[in-house]
Amino acid sequence: MTIAHVVPWRSLARTGRRRLAAALCLLLAACGGESAPSPSGAPTPTGPGPTPPLTPPQPTGPLGPLVVGQMYTDRSEFVEYTPGDAPLVLVAPHGGALQPAGVPDRSCSGCVTVTDANTQELARAIADTFQVRTGARLHLVVNRLHRRKFDANRDRDEATGGTRALDTTWLWLHSAIDSARQRVAANGGHGLLIDLHGHGHAVPRLELGYLLSAATLRQSDAALQAAGVMNSSSIARAATGTRSLADRGVALLRGPFSLGGLLGTRGVPSVPSPSDPAPLVGQEFFDGGYNTGRHGSRNGSAVDAIQIECHFPGIRDTAASRGAFARTLVDALLVYLERHYGWVPRR
Ligand SMILES: [Zn+2]
Repeated sequence: MTIAHVVPWRSLARTGRRRLAAALCLLLAACGGESAPSPSGAPTPTGPGPTPPLTPPQPTGPLGPLVVGQMYTDRSEFVEYTPGDAPLVLVAPHGGALQPAGVPDRSCSGCVTVTDANTQELARAIADTFQVRTGARLHLVVNRLHRRKFDANRDRDEATGGTRALDTTWLWLHSAIDSARQRVAANGGHGLLIDLHGHGHAVPRLELGYLLSAATLRQSDAALQAAGVMNSSSIARAATGTRSLADRGVALLRGPFSLGGLLGTRGVPSVPSPSDPAPLVGQEFFDGGYNTGRHGSRNGSAVDAIQIECHFPGIRDTAASRGAFARTLVDALLVYLERHYGWVPRR
């Protein structure tokens, strides 16, 4: 069974079919007329012939108008997006558990297939806590597939492992994130994207990825400032544009109102932070991945991005740990959103 058959075309409501057809038209326009080669490599017949079977269009993004708080999924229900109304986007790419028999395992050389245990549950706890605390919703994007099938933090070829049927899932995922970023950026706004992960490294601390390597972080603040490294970070926009002049530049990386600083004062050890400015030589450290680079502000996005790699004990091991960490993280993020982006909840 192919993925395209998971939801039969004829079972869709008429309005759904119209929306999908419209999406196909948009896709074809966006692709600039590029055509897919036939699987056999044989030339495509151009003369009269038998009518080909109708191939249902695959929407490559959530179809609007989108409603805040309503969950949308791709056609195969492998990835989901719940739009929010706060300038905060939360992505959980590696916490999925689905392993459909019809989807081949990724077989690419060097592919990582280990899931980040309980990070999907942690993301949902953070989203729920944020709503209870503020009355507003963050944008939540969740990959439900196990990493053995799909890696939602890689370029398309590595993400799908060459399973072309997953191309639309990958496109839908990033279209959903783009949609969230556009909503944040509407009316000149700015905000933050968190790409949520779990690590198994020896030191039990959060690893905050800004696309800056451990070796770079080991340099002094003065050296980093002189080299202008914040311009190549995933928070490049906030590093020059935060509303708090005192926090501009390297201060946003490991000053008291950096995310690491705000978490540290709330009892969650993080690197980089004022008390732990950089990983030591030999210590493992994740400095950010595909999503952080693609959706952060290094390339001019209105949304900054931080990859949060969570250790296991006391953070994501039990429901109680996840609930407590969700409350702490939301507490820190509310300070961050107000101080750097000027956002406060309405209530
Ligand atoms: Zn991960």
